[in-house]
Amino acid sequence: MIEAAFLGSGSTGNCAVIRAGRTAVLLDAGLSPRQIGVRLGKLGMTLDDVSALLLTHEHSDHVSSAAVLATKRGIPVYATQGTLAKAGLPGPLFADLRTVADGAELCFGGGDLTVRVTRTPHDGVDPVCYVFADGAGRRVGVATDLGHLSKKVLAALEGCEVLGLEANHDVDVLREGAYPAFLKKRILSDVGHLSNDAAAAGLARLLGDRTRIVVGLHLSKNNNTPTLAERALRQGVERLGAKVVLEVAGPDAPTGWYRARPAGGIG
Ligand SMILES: [Zn+2]
Ligand SMILES: [Zn+2]
Repeated sequence: MIEAAFLGSGSTGNCAVIRAGRTAVLLDAGLSPRQIGVRLGKLGMTLDDVSALLLTHEHSDHVSSAAVLATKRGIPVYATQGTLAKAGLPGPLFADLRTVADGAELCFGGGDLTVRVTRTPHDGVDPVCYVFADGAGRRVGVATDLGHLSKKVLAALEGCEVLGLEANHDVDVLREGAYPAFLKKRILSDVGHLSNDAAAAGLARLLGDRTRIVVGLHLSKNNNTPTLAERALRQGVERLGAKVVLEVAGPDAPTGWYRARPAGGIG
C-alpha cells in the first residue's frame, strides 16, 4: 500500500509526505518546520516517522526548511548536485546529503518504497520530479514546477495510481493580470510553470487504467483559483471518460491521504 498527502501546495510553500508500509519520506520542505510538524500531526505522523527529505529544486518555496530538518532533525536530504549546492544547506559535515541524478532509482525501508528520479523542464539549476512505488509496484507520481510536460516526464508519470500534477495558472488570467511582463514571460515559458489547460491536456497521456486520483498542485494565488483549476482538469478527465477522483491541494491546510489501490479495489 502506498499513499500520499500534500501538507501545503503553492508558491508560499510546498511539502508532501509519501508513505508505504512503515516508511515515509517528505517531498520538498517549503513550509516552516513548525507547520510541517503541525500538519504531519493532523495526518497522524511526526517528523520522527520521516526517513528522508527529497528535494525537487532549490526555489525557496521548496527548500526553505531543508537546512533545519537536516541539521536539527538529522533527516537525510536527497537532491541533485545542483540543487544541493543552491538550496542553502550546510556542508556534508553538518548534514547527511545524498546526491541523486536523472534516471536514478532510490530505495527506502528495505524495498518498502522505491523512488524514480526524472529531470523536469524548469528554471532551477537541476530540477527533478519523483515517482514513488510500493513493493507491489503501485505508484504515486508528483510533478510541479514544469514549463511543459516533456516526453521524459510524461513517460515517468504515465499510469500512476495517484497523480499529483501542477495546475499553476489560467493563461488568460495571467496574461491580463498585474504581473510585470518579464514575470509573465517567465511563467509562460518552456521552463516556467504548467497552466491549467496544459495539465488537463497532459491527462490524455498520463491517465491509465489504474489511475484513480488526480490532485491539482501549486495553484497560483494571483493567476488561478481552485475553481478554475478544477474545472480545467475536470474537462480533461471528462474528455477521456475516465473515472478518477479529482481534487486540488491548497497552501494553508493539508489534504487527506490519497491511497493507491490495485485496479478494482474499493475506496
Ligand atoms: Zn514552486
Ligand atoms: Zn520552482
